[in-house]
Amino acid sequence: MQQEHPDITFITDTAPVATATHGGRAKCLQRLVRLDLPVPRTVALSFDEVHRIAAGEMPDMDALLALLASESLICVRPSSEDPDWGGPGAILNIGMNDARHAQLSLEMGAQAANALYARFIQSYSVHVARLDPDMFDDMDMESDTVCQQALDAYEDEAEEPFPQQPADQLAGVLRSMARAWEGTSARLLRQAKGAPADAGLGLVVQEMVLGLGHGECGSGVLQLVNVTTGLPQITGRYLSQSQGRDALLTGAASLFLERDTRGPSLEEKAPAAFEALKAHAALMREKLREEMQIEFTIDNGEVHILDGVRVQRSARAAVRIAVRLAKDGIIPRQEALLRIEPRALNELLHRQVDPEAPRDVIGTGIAASPGAATGKIVFSAAEAQASAARGEACVLVRRETNPEDIRGMHAASAVLTERGGITSHAAVIARGLGLPCVVGASSLRFQMRKHALTCPDGRVFREGDMITVDGSDGQILAGEPAMLEAALDDAFQSLMNWADKERDIDVRANADTPADAKTARNFKANGIGLCRTEHMFFDADRLTVMREMIFADASEDRRSALEQLLPMQRDDFTELFRIMEGQPVCIRLFDPPLHEFLPTDRAGLRDLAEALSLPLSDVTRRVDALGEYNPMLGMRGVRLGITVPEIYDMQARAIFEATIAASHEGDPVVPEIMIPLVSANREVELVKTRVDAVAAAVRTETGVDFDYRLGVMVETPRAALRAEEIAPHCHFFSFGTNDLTQMTYGLSRDDAGRFMSAYVQQGVYPEDPFHTLDVEGVGELLKLGAERGRNSQPNLTLSVCGEHGGSPESIDFCRKIGINYVSCSPFRVPVARLAAAQLAI
Ligand code: PEP
Ligand code: MG
Repeated sequence: MQQEHPDITFITDTAPVATATHGGRAKCLQRLVRLDLPVPRTVALSFDEVHRIAAGEMPDMDALLALLASESLICVRPSSEDPDWGGPGAILNIGMNDARHAQLSLEMGAQAANALYARFIQSYSVHVARLDPDMFDDMDMESDTVCQQALDAYEDEAEEPFPQQPADQLAGVLRSMARAWEGTSARLLRQAKGAPADAGLGLVVQEMVLGLGHGECGSGVLQLVNVTTGLPQITGRYLSQSQGRDALLTGAASLFLERDTRGPSLEEKAPAAFEALKAHAALMREKLREEMQIEFTIDNGEVHILDGVRVQRSARAAVRIAVRLAKDGIIPRQEALLRIEPRALNELLHRQVDPEAPRDVIGTGIAASPGAATGKIVFSAAEAQASAARGEACVLVRRETNPEDIRGMHAASAVLTERGGITSHAAVIARGLGLPCVVGASSLRFQMRKHALTCPDGRVFREGDMITVDGSDGQILAGEPAMLEAALDDAFQSLMNWADKERDIDVRANADTPADAKTARNFKANGIGLCRTEHMFFDADRLTVMREMIFADASEDRRSALEQLLPMQRDDFTELFRIMEGQPVCIRLFDPPLHEFLPTDRAGLRDLAEALSLPLSDVTRRVDALGEYNPMLGMRGVRLGITVPEIYDMQARAIFEATIAASHEGDPVVPEIMIPLVSANREVELVKTRVDAVAAAVRTETGVDFDYRLGVMVETPRAALRAEEIAPHCHFFSFGTNDLTQMTYGLSRDDAGRFMSAYVQQGVYPEDPFHTLDVEGVGELLKLGAERGRNSQPNLTLSVCGEHGGSPESIDFCRKIGINYVSCSPFRVPVARLAAAQLAI
């Protein structure tokens, strides 16, 4: 066959057809032709040609039809560059007219021919002539006169007879499909899916194999995998005497493919065709290097392949499919890694609401920590703990959480807050715990006193009512929808191992507790990048001692309270070191303002007065005195370390004693001690002097030598700017991008959630900077800090431990500026490992 025109191409194995000019479907069909599969004759129209058609410039229809066999009906299908961008629906049976109807009536019987013609008239009327679909409502498709009725209805509405010439019909179809693609709504729809404004549409004009007639005829789809699990399994549908995707639409009537107990199968009705289909599908998998769904027609027992599309799949199936393709030697491992969207791993790491399950959405908020969990509503941390003690799953509902809620969060299955953004307390802690969490759910009314949640539709949910928090998409659902379990199977493990061989940046975990550390080990983190020690002081027994320490007037009293905390901290650190088995553990010294440890309500104040044997008025006055107007910029972090140095002394001692204890039993430990909220060089000098003194004292007392590394968190803009003078005292810098973002923008990380969506919607910020690293502003400080730090201390280890550490885009930036590792919540470690591997490939 001659190639007359590069824009109207008869598909052969050598024809110039490309996805970028003719679309994915045309290219795929060419691949199938090259594999010698039984593909009906096909012509591809390029994007340019379709564009001209939309503008009213029609190609020579007779020449086009001459490329196909003259006696067959034809169909036209869309062929865009990416199948997700949509496109007009396929039109089948073009060429059907009175003469063909008469001929087919003889060949296949009047009823089948009637149905075919009437359906074509109907689809042409609605999709091509754009007539009112209701006009066919009353038509009896079984009637002998259905075709005449349809033709009359067309003529009435269109005020002209139904076109009888195949060339005219085809021209009408091509024009309507080309114009539909260029319409505004179709354009907006595909742009929303990432298509460029000028994305083109190709069209594929194909001879039809009818799927109707004598012998075994029909159509269906087949694939070799289960789309939910990714495991090998022949799945699909087939319907005798059908066309196109009928088998999928009329599920009840269609056949199963393989022989089983549910009813007749294609395997039984046409075994040879079934074997041929399986062989074709296997060949496509191997040569197209992908799990493909094949669309086929069977004509008198003979198989024809009409199309092949990439199998749609769940995230867990995507992982298994990629790994199996690599293990079967069909694609290289690197390609398997590149085929998985890192964030899609979240679906494997957490329980999910079954995508097939009905959803009764009662409210929405910010998706702060992925996964879904169901439980009874509780409105306080104490209730959450009581609920856990009874073995009942609960959802902790709070306006916002604060450090006092930690134990309740540990006890809950999910957390829901009215306020807060992506780096608010609830969000950060929930991600660390792998707990589903939705924050900023202000569409719900939180009536904390009444212990009720009211949804926009007026329904009220009370304490004890069952709800589900879907932290993957920010929805709150009524009741208990069906769930899919996490799937850390062998395919996932293989993929992760391959990722580790590629990546060139380490991934550590932010882990505060032994449970976090175990999760970090499970997910093969390269150590702990941030242990926020303040979370260790909230157990009931410690909180009271902590409060005694805060209330102590003299340094001596403070020391004696801290002495009680010392063995507890030592045990905490010893356990962390043991779990991490010689991997680095970076411990941040105490960071939050002290008043966070004090009660806020009257009952709590009374309890505290009792515990400390102080008058209530005294306690109230002292608590008030500790309050700050702006605590996040107040006496916290290193400022506390300098003004109340006994706290850091105790922590340093606990770390060193734990180092010795853990090193006795296993791999040597070299702890990393990190100073938070530094803004001036002198702060580091002062803390370093004291920590060194504690180390010297412990060495002398125990006679055991050990090493340690001291570093600072760079989380104030000034620390980044003055990095050159700070670095000589340090082994490492860890950029705390949460506070650094807060301080660079002057934007409260706890309150920004209230207006962030308005800001993003109006384009003030392209994204929530607490969620996506602001490369231009905060990133500039990271770059400066890294450069200046390394100027004076070339061996400085650099890391990012803010919430951005786990996001693929931030990792890209971090690699570019020479960061050695990122540290993120344990459950984000796999996502970061895969993202880092992809960036290195
Ligand atoms: C940070 O500020 O980025 C950080 C990691 O510390 P925190 O979130 O505990 O303030
Ligand atoms: Mg911080």
